Amino acid sequence: MDVLVIGAGVCGLTTGICLAEAGLSVTIRTAAPPERTTSVAAGALWGLVRVGPPDRVLDWGRTGLEVMSKLAAEPGTGVRMASGREVSRTPMEPHYWTELLPGLRLCDPSELPDGFTSGWHYTAPLATMPVYLGYLRARFEQAGGRLEVAPVRSLAELAGLAPVVVNCAGVYARDLVPDPEVRPVRGQVVIVANPGLEEFFINKDEEPPWITYMFPHGEEVLLGGTNDEGNWDTEPQPFIAERIVAHCAAIDPRLRGATILGHRVGLRPYRPEVRLESEPFGDGVLWHNYGHGGAGISLSWGCAAAIAAGVAGQLSSRATRRAGAMARYASWQSSAISAQSGSRSSRTPTQPRPPTYGGRKNRSGADAVSSACAPGGAAHHRCGNCWSWWPSAHRVTKELLSRTNQVGAPWLSRSVTSGRARQIARIRSARSAAILSLRSGRRVGGHHPAPPGVVIVCPPLS
Ligand SMILES: Cc1cc2nc3c(=O)[nH]c(=O)nc-3n(C[C@H](O)[C@H](O)[C@H](O)COP(=O)(O)OP(=O)(O)OC[C@H]3O[C@@H](n4cnc5c(N)ncnc54)[C@H](O)[C@@H]3O)c2cc1C
Repeated sequence: MDVLVIGAGVCGLTTGICLAEAGLSVTIRTAAPPERTTSVAAGALWGLVRVGPPDRVLDWGRTGLEVMSKLAAEPGTGVRMASGREVSRTPMEPHYWTELLPGLRLCDPSELPDGFTSGWHYTAPLATMPVYLGYLRARFEQAGGRLEVAPVRSLAELAGLAPVVVNCAGVYARDLVPDPEVRPVRGQVVIVANPGLEEFFINKDEEPPWITYMFPHGEEVLLGGTNDEGNWDTEPQPFIAERIVAHCAAIDPRLRGATILGHRVGLRPYRPEVRLESEPFGDGVLWHNYGHGGAGISLSWGCAAAIAAGVAGQLSSRATRRAGAMARYASWQSSAISAQSGSRSSRTPTQPRPPTYGGRKNRSGADAVSSACAPGGAAHHRCGNCWSWWPSAHRVTKELLSRTNQVGAPWLSRSVTSGRARQIARIRSARSAAILSLRSGRRVGGHHPAPPGVVIVCPPLS
């Protein structure tokens, strides 16, 4: 396993997808399956609500807007482009992030319900979360990812399981990290049969914790809701549900007497700023990706992409060190062979010692790598780092196989021609920046200890 992701909400799944589609071996470990997370309770309209800091949020949100707008054009994703209004009873300017929405315009007074004085109309991606989470999970698993339902009791228990761990625990990061800055903002919603609503409607100027919104999702409408700070209750409360329906029906009379289909509750993981950063974790790296408040659906792709880029850099520098160990293995083999004058089976006192892999001793491998890549080494790749930019998946395979012959390590050819070749094919079809990591320490056949690993980073294929 290259990466272990904690959490299968929208942040864990999108992070898992970005890493798995880049060719990494990824496992998601989650206390609850996707359909029982906070994410499933979301509205879920693109918008940067209750989240900071504004500059980073705008960047991540822009990526989210792009990706979700594309998903809206694909069948089966649960995402569509929806139009609607956000209104207020007091004069209000559109939020700073609406600058990213091309179709934004101020409402004409005739478009406002009775009692409202300002509002704006826009179009943005809207996700039907049960469908969208199902799509994300399937896409993650299609990319080779594994999802395990098993709670993580402490971060310490994960040390050494994977070189990279990503914490997408949402509000539960408060105890897991621990991080007292994260706190829940409880949201309750009601799902009713759709009496004919087509546009969304949002009014945020109710008395806290109330907020009124209606998000049509085909045959259903999601009615909200609440913003209840510090409340950890995940059970729907009937008196809240009644009041939500009454507030919405007062604005749109078509909702009076609408058939109630279900109730959902989620705990928005509020934090003054999203925590997206890495820290050392044993021999590896721990990434944090939580605290997305009321905007996790909108930010998840941007944050996932930032993590994938960071992890690529971290694994490739780790690979450089490991490739050093592998090169020492190769040069030890060839010098051992030439010193043996016939027999390869025994080492005389004059022969070099075989290198050890993965331990601290091997971390400064740059010189050994350069000498192994010198004339006579693997001819086609760029020297110095022992990992290369490859123009195509086909050449990756060929190159690895030719290297295999040189270092005499049959494990490599078997790895490449079995499961890893399929990953290469996927990388090619995904046309994405890809990382191929051959696992460390695997033994294929009794006499061939696998060198600790190789990482190849492919540029986006054109
Ligand atoms: C009513 C409501 C409406 C919303 N509307 C919108 C909206 O319109 N637009 C928008 O962008 N956002 C919206 N949000 C916010 C959005 O839903 C959240 O920001 C987002 O779901 C957070 O996702 P997450 O993956 O970080 O957390 P979660 O969905 O809470 O997932 C956390 C995951 O971590 C797992 N986990 C936690 N602790 C552990 C552990 N110890 N071991 C293993 N696994 C663990 C959980 O089981 C879960 O799988 C809304 C939220 C609510 C409640």
